Amino acid sequence: MNDFFPSEKWRYCPYCGADAFRPGDANYMKCEVCGEKFYINASAAVACIVVNAQKEILLTRRKFEPAKGMLDLPGGFVNADETAEEAVRREIMEELNLRVDAARYFGSSTNRYHYGNMTYFTLDMGFECTVSDFSRLSAADDVASCAFFAPCKVDFAQIGFPSIRALVRRYMQR
Ligand SMILES: [Zn+2]
Repeated sequence: MNDFFPSEKWRYCPYCGADAFRPGDANYMKCEVCGEKFYINASAAVACIVVNAQKEILLTRRKFEPAKGMLDLPGGFVNADETAEEAVRREIMEELNLRVDAARYFGSSTNRYHYGNMTYFTLDMGFECTVSDFSRLSAADDVASCAFFAPCKVDFAQIGFPSIRALVRRYMQR
């Protein structure tokens, strides 16, 4: 997968419109005409480990690109003005129709998410989620299907993103 970095694709200043928007010497771009800067930081995302009473891990199958058809953890990007914990609860409700009783952060991993000919530098934050009621479990939103896997049965080659593989491994080894 080719990377498309903003610093390589953007050339027009979003403030004054000049054809003078250039990479700075750090993680920003700067307009050579008006001097305004734009910082390129990581996009926050949450990845959720949901475990049932048998200690099996709930994995989803991706409905859309990137990594369409591959296994994933439920989760997604954190919205503007949203906490990571709020994103966990929203995503688990949207994707699986489940209510999260408690969420505990256990670690993070980085990812390069390719979407729409742009590379998003993502920080995936792993949360262990407690769910007491699975009776309403159903795949929706950008999830095609979901299933519980015993830790020894997880096929890591089927997990679409390296950062998600790393988080599942870290959770299992903790
Ligand atoms: Zn400018």
